[in-house]
Amino acid sequence: MLKRKFLSVFALSAVLLPGFTFAQTGSSTASATGSVAPATYQAPKEIIDRIKEEGSKNSQVMQTLSYLTDVIGARLTGSPALKRANEWTRDTMTKWGMQNAKLEAWGPFGRGWTLKNFDAQVVAPYNIPLIAYPKAWSPSTRGALTADVVLFNPKTDADYEKYKGKLKDKIVLMSDARPLKVEDKPLSARMTDEELTKMAGAPDPASVQRPQQAAATPEQMQQRMQSFVQGAKRASFLMQEGASVLIDVSRGGSGGTIFVQGATVSQTIPANVTDFAALRRSFVQPQQKEAEAKMIPQMTLAAEHYNRLVRMLNQGENLKMTVNIQAEYSDADPMAYNTVAEIPGSDPKLKDEVVMLGGHMDSWHAGTGATDNAAGVSVAMEAARIIQSLGLKPRRTIRVALWSGEEQGLFGSSNYVTQHFGEMQNAPTRATAAPGTTPTPPTLTKKPDYEKLSAYYNLDNGTGKIRGVYMQGNSAAAPIFRTWLEPFKDMGATTITLSNTGGTDHQSFDKIGLPGFQFIQDGIEYDTRTHHSNQDVFDRIQSDDMKQAATIMAAFVYQTSMMDEKIPRKTIK
Ligand SMILES: [Zn+2]
Repeated sequence: MLKRKFLSVFALSAVLLPGFTFAQTGSSTASATGSVAPATYQAPKEIIDRIKEEGSKNSQVMQTLSYLTDVIGARLTGSPALKRANEWTRDTMTKWGMQNAKLEAWGPFGRGWTLKNFDAQVVAPYNIPLIAYPKAWSPSTRGALTADVVLFNPKTDADYEKYKGKLKDKIVLMSDARPLKVEDKPLSARMTDEELTKMAGAPDPASVQRPQQAAATPEQMQQRMQSFVQGAKRASFLMQEGASVLIDVSRGGSGGTIFVQGATVSQTIPANVTDFAALRRSFVQPQQKEAEAKMIPQMTLAAEHYNRLVRMLNQGENLKMTVNIQAEYSDADPMAYNTVAEIPGSDPKLKDEVVMLGGHMDSWHAGTGATDNAAGVSVAMEAARIIQSLGLKPRRTIRVALWSGEEQGLFGSSNYVTQHFGEMQNAPTRATAAPGTTPTPPTLTKKPDYEKLSAYYNLDNGTGKIRGVYMQGNSAAAPIFRTWLEPFKDMGATTITLSNTGGTDHQSFDKIGLPGFQFIQDGIEYDTRTHHSNQDVFDRIQSDDMKQAATIMAAFVYQTSMMDEKIPRKTIK
């Protein structure tokens, strides 16, 4: 799942402007509320029972997960490890009897990055081993470098003056200590009946004036832009002053859990910026080749260790550290790849139509991307394997898609959707909704296959089992999904919510009006421990939850393939 610092992760459909909203269409039975749903195909109990049995007794989901995480390891987009995962998943699905398994290129994305060697410790006044990880795409240090450690925490523009000429070759701590509070809440909690009931009663998001939908005031926009500009300014200043290594404190977590993402690039900020969105777009991303000259080697430190170093400096101690970051960029191929594979449809009239399922295969690099998102990949593969191994004959073609570049902005799925289905030009986002301006009306350009996709099902909220489905405001599909959840009540999946959820690949479909769904999942340790951290590893995966999710996904995908009609869509009016 994607997490952005400055752009909200809620569904894009939540910010669609007036005059461009998706509404329901369908063609069979009209409900009392006016929404329309086609007749629901319901698989016979015998088939659902076989799916459940295959998913529990012969499950491969944990073997798949272990290979992706333990054997292949972290899968940063552009890296040789992700390419290996692309190829391994392609070959595995072929071995299972699936067809047309292949890699599909998108891009250019940029360069890959692989850590080759890393070591960091305090060496004076005495040795202190440290829990630390380099940030993705950080440049290498020139061998192991030893330097003084200094604290850099300017609060005002005037404060920068105090640091001028004092940072050359220094190892720089980038902020004050982050105070830790006692962990008085459990790291993991399953959704309660109360929470699920509340979700089930949530209104259609299109009917709700969300607070975010109200245009930001000029002051708020200015503030947002300022904080962005300040971050860029700090990086540029440190670059100019010749700091040798940057260290930040893990933004969350404690007890050895560190959250680590991409390196900070020093940016050129034009004077008198007014267009925040344009400014963001102009920023160089760390995976771009040109970023290398604009980055200082950098790493993230565990909070307890970081805080101690800050306190020692504040006590007047002189600290020296030795840091050795050796990483390799891969520039041979700037493209990135999604893996796709199919179970061909069997109905002469419907086999050209497609039901898709998937999750993203790329990860951050400090852990092994287990809950984010080898879990979703393994579950989607397993769902297809269940259908394939039972010899079920789907009427429509079932296509698994394992995305890349999700962590940098849903790139793999959005490029795939553009290549195959269509594109929304001028799609409004929160960042472009500048106050006092009239946005260009969005337009949708469709490809022929736009009419051939029934639905896309995504899993990317960690290891927690499925509790229901987010409908993204598609009320016409709700009765169908409600019927399909019936046989899984005893497995804890009961809830249909009209609400949107964001931050992951179903949005690439939803954005152009195609039915794209993310399942509701229990938040097992996701935000507290694993999501983008060094502890996102196989041991944090709950095997029973994974089996449950694969079984439900298999049943949803199979039944979608068997419907007389496609899943109803939200249409543009
Ligand atoms: Zn993520």
